[in-house]
Amino acid sequence: MSDFPKGEVWLVGAGPGDAGLLTLHAVAALKQADIVVHDALVSTDVLAYADGAELVLLGKRGGRPSIKQPEINARLVAEARAGKRVVRLKGGDPFMFGRGAEEVLALVAAGVGFRVIPGITAGIGGLAYAGIPATARQVNSSVIFLTGHDHTGLSPEGIDWQAVGKAAGMIVLYMAMRHMAEIAGRLMDGGLAGDTPVAVVMNASLPDMRVLETTLAGAARDIAASGIGAPAIVSIGKGNLLREQMMWR
Ligand code: SAH
Repeated sequence: MSDFPKGEVWLVGAGPGDAGLLTLHAVAALKQADIVVHDALVSTDVLAYADGAELVLLGKRGGRPSIKQPEINARLVAEARAGKRVVRLKGGDPFMFGRGAEEVLALVAAGVGFRVIPGITAGIGGLAYAGIPATARQVNSSVIFLTGHDHTGLSPEGIDWQAVGKAAGMIVLYMAMRHMAEIAGRLMDGGLAGDTPVAVVMNASLPDMRVLETTLAGAARDIAASGIGAPAIVSIGKGNLLREQMMWR
C-alpha cells in the first residue's frame, strides 16, 4: 500500500456508508492520516478506521451553506502546510456531486501535493443495495446522473428536463428530495409517463436503509407520506421493477 507523505492531501471516497465498501487505498489512507476532514455524509463505521487521526467535520448539508467552500479549501491547504497527512473524506465518490474538483483545483493552485482515491457512489452502489441495477441489458443502455439542486439550493434551471426524460432509460437523482414535485412535473410535461417506476432509497447501504417504491406521478405525495428524507437517492425508470426479484437485503 502506498506511503502517505507528510504535507499531502488525499481526497478519499468513503462510499455510501457501509464500511465494507471502502477501497483498500481508502483504508490505508485513513490508517496513516494525521487529520481527517470529512463531510456530513460519512458514516461513523467508516470514521472508525481513522482511529489515530484528528477528526474534523467540514461540509455542506442539503444545500444549506453551513460553511463556504473557500474556507474548506483554505483549511486543507493550511493543514498540509503544517506538515500533516490530510485525508479529505467524502461520502460516495469525491467527483460525483461532491465538490472534489473544486478542492483539487485549490490544492493545485496552492502547490500542495495530492492524490485521489475514488469511492463507490450512492447512485450506483446505493441503488445496488436496494436491488436496483443502474443498467440491465434488457431494460436500459444508458443512465443519467443529475443533481436535484444547484449550489444555491434551487432546482437547476439550466437542465432541459424534457431532453433528460428522452435521453436515458434510467435517471438517477442526487439531492432531489426537496424538489421532487417540480422535477416529476417537468419530466411528465416532457412526455415521461406518470406510471414510470420510481424508487427512493434513503440511507442506502446502512442498517437503517429505507426504500420507497412509487411512480413519477405519485412520488412527491408518497415521499411526503412516508417521511423518507435526505440523504436519499432517487431512481426513475423501468429498471426499478427488477427490485422485486433482485432485492437481497
Ligand atoms: N459524492 C456523493 C454524493 C454527494 S451529494 C456520492 O458519490 O454518492 C449528496 C447526495 O448523495 C444526497 O443528497 C443523496 O442524494 C446522495 N447520497 C449519498 N449517500 C447516500 C446514501 N447513503 N443513501 C442515499 N443517498 C445518498
